[in-house]
Amino acid sequence: MVATTRTTCPYCGVGCGLRVSVDGNEVKVAGDTEHPSNRGSLCSKGSALADTAGLEDRLLHPIVGGRRVSWEIALGKVASGFAHMIAEHGPDAVAFYVSGQLLTEDYYVANKLMKGYIGSANIDTNSRLCMSSAVAGHQRAFGEDAVPGCYEDLDLADLVVLVGSNTAWCHPVIYQRIVKAREFDNEKKLVVIDPRRTSTAEGADLHLAIKPGTDVALFNGLLAYLADAGVTDSDFLRDHTGGSATALETAREGGDLRAVANTCGIDVADVERFYGWFANTEKTVTAFSQGVNQSTSGTDKVNAIINCHLLTGRIGKPGAGPFSITGQPNAMGGREVGGMASMLAAHMGFEAADTVRRFWNSPVIARKPGLKAVELFDAIDQGKIKAVWIMATNPVVSMPDADAVKMALTKCELVVVSDCMRRTDTTLFADVLLPAAAWGEKDGTVTNSERIISRQRAFLTCPGEARPDWWIVCEVARRLGFGEAFDFENPAAIFAEHARLSAYENDGARAFDLGGLAELDNGDYAGLEPIRWPATSTRRNPPQPPFAKGGTRSESSNSARLFANGGFTFPDGRARLIDVKAKPPAYAPDAEFPLMLNTGRVRDHWHTMTRTAKSPRLASHISEPFVEIHPEDAAHYGIEDATLATVKTRWGSLIARVTANEGQRPGTLFAPIHWNDQFASRARVGALVNPAVCPISGEPEFKHTPVRIEPFGAAWYGFALAARRLPMTRAERIDYWVAVPGQRFWRYELAGRESPEDASAWARRLLKIGERAIDWIEYRDDAAGVYRAAHVDGGALEACLFMAKAPSLPARTWLSSLFVQGGLEECDRTALLAGRPADPAADTGPQVCSCFGVGRNTIFEAIRAGSLKTPAAVGEALNAGTNCGSCVPEIKALLAEAARAK
Ligand code: SF4
Repeated sequence: MVATTRTTCPYCGVGCGLRVSVDGNEVKVAGDTEHPSNRGSLCSKGSALADTAGLEDRLLHPIVGGRRVSWEIALGKVASGFAHMIAEHGPDAVAFYVSGQLLTEDYYVANKLMKGYIGSANIDTNSRLCMSSAVAGHQRAFGEDAVPGCYEDLDLADLVVLVGSNTAWCHPVIYQRIVKAREFDNEKKLVVIDPRRTSTAEGADLHLAIKPGTDVALFNGLLAYLADAGVTDSDFLRDHTGGSATALETAREGGDLRAVANTCGIDVADVERFYGWFANTEKTVTAFSQGVNQSTSGTDKVNAIINCHLLTGRIGKPGAGPFSITGQPNAMGGREVGGMASMLAAHMGFEAADTVRRFWNSPVIARKPGLKAVELFDAIDQGKIKAVWIMATNPVVSMPDADAVKMALTKCELVVVSDCMRRTDTTLFADVLLPAAAWGEKDGTVTNSERIISRQRAFLTCPGEARPDWWIVCEVARRLGFGEAFDFENPAAIFAEHARLSAYENDGARAFDLGGLAELDNGDYAGLEPIRWPATSTRRNPPQPPFAKGGTRSESSNSARLFANGGFTFPDGRARLIDVKAKPPAYAPDAEFPLMLNTGRVRDHWHTMTRTAKSPRLASHISEPFVEIHPEDAAHYGIEDATLATVKTRWGSLIARVTANEGQRPGTLFAPIHWNDQFASRARVGALVNPAVCPISGEPEFKHTPVRIEPFGAAWYGFALAARRLPMTRAERIDYWVAVPGQRFWRYELAGRESPEDASAWARRLLKIGERAIDWIEYRDDAAGVYRAAHVDGGALEACLFMAKAPSLPARTWLSSLFVQGGLEECDRTALLAGRPADPAADTGPQVCSCFGVGRNTIFEAIRAGSLKTPAAVGEALNAGTNCGSCVPEIKALLAEAARAK
């Protein structure tokens, strides 16, 4: 019997609906065609979720002081530890650091415990790192953290402006909506504002590669231009807003178009074209994400964008509005609950402390904001916070100045970590480790970027002694003496209380109102369809409009949107245009650190790889930490493409593979955020990031840290493939390693500053091949610095190692495939140390399309042999690019390369 469960993707804030079927041990994941946010589409990460459902490396039992214990002992240790610190030092001596990965119900009980029962607001979240500037910008402009629009606006807009967002890679299903809408109507325009020429920028009509940190100058210039061009919506401005005169006066200080272009480091003609398109396009959506938010001016950038929409009255209308694209799967749910140090609960601030206390009937209530993420770890370092409970996040990797976070945790008297994984960079510092349920085992709700609440339903039972986060928090609360207030039987009961709080003494005062869901019983909750808030009067999902020709929907009713006719949350009902001045980032490049480091995501990894690294197909798209540099900068600093470089800031350093790329703005570097000490020798980019934060939102400046780059100085480069995982941390002569999980093998990229004296003996030690192993094949050319070896056992490849002085080594794809096929054919054995098959077609090349596992060589050869000219033709021939579409920009690049090669 195959059971199918409708649930939600646990990765990004797009919030795609899934249908998961479990047949014995086999899990299959497909897009849910009935979910309004994705209509069946998935990206490469969502499509590969089944690969991640296994139990490898899971934390399955509570651990205290490194020893397995019962839940009773572990929960008692947490409760007594927190109670002791609170009694000795007060409630502000303890903290929770939670996560946008938690479900709303988990978040709700954690927030209630800290703010209403412990009496501190020291609960902050990793969402602080990705979207707190959007929260603060919404609050300043609207009086409440509310996203006015919905995804349908991206279908309907005639102009989409993407600011600081590599949407094609980071929110691929949204990006594909934009692509499809433009295919249907080629008059629709896409502008991308990003210092890097990303895959998203490749598909744009106009790419503004602005100088990092100049977004406020660009949007202030736009505000002035719009006013001068007479596209102000005077009625809207008069009836529903305030602050436009001062906002405009400040905006004009940025000077004329030429001055703006100069400040932003772009052509004045491009500025004029962008401003002209914006002025003349009523249906304009400006969507933004971390490139805007992660800045010491993050909140100002958000408000500079919103100002332009308020001035023109383009807000909350079909196809028009500012739109924050949220990073994490439930950052929005966490915001709704109030699970941040800067909010109280249910979109209420600390001025509503008495209201919330009355609702909770709680003994105490937090009356002032708590410590935001960076402040919180500083307070741990200073000994002010003596007990911290980290839930579902990995701050030793993801925080800025991450080595300082590591140091702080070593000093903290009690570190509790709830996680589903046994070994992360953060679990290593835990005094108490609590095994949490993982996606697939969790039951609750999440909210996506367009305010749609969806159910995440369990389709697997919790393995070992793993338990849901809400259960763990409630059990600790009971042991702290708050049993009655946390006597929830299930997530449905928590959700109902959350919904009641949202409606409590609300009466239209706040847009966030789930009053219509407050009476859900267990059955209603179990079957809850995706529903957008406000949800004040219905238990039903609002009807979705039909699909129009070409895949876009016709316009839905305005109930999907907020603020088209004013009604903002401030007591006077008016929005505020905010007076924002362009300010430089906190730290400027200097003689010692002359470049600027930008950080971000890659297409097929998520956060700190605890889930995506379980999927060989995801891990094989980009397998190594890298640093992107403009070729001119590379030449200037003596850095060669494909070699290794050391990247240093005042806060830390890493080693990464160099990618010289014309799309990188000169003077800047880019490095991805995902790699960590579990997968690489030194690649935690958070350790390099400066700890400065936006003074309003507290969001760190991940996009702008002064940096320098220098050659790593490798004496040798190499790679190993092995059927078993190899211990790398103590391996001799290896100064650089990256572990890449494959299907039935592990791959290691390696380098060292000194060559091993006896390569053969060293290779055997590294690969764990005994002296007596007989099927050990070697090739060496000492003069050329080449060494190759392979160990065959029982006719199957067990391990191999390739070394050379230069990084040009055989491709890994064909050798990797030998582990999957099992026994070696005679021709494979002969070709083994050549590193390439006798038949070149057998080497598919590095993976491009993760959904269908199609490699670069296969695509290139199909283009050449079939004279293919478009991504659609490649898709027809190979399926590549036809599922999530995330690889289409790479297919386009291969088409261009093939055309040049003719
Ligand atoms: Fe998941 Fe991809 Fe959808 Fe994001 S876009 S929710 S990662 S399937």
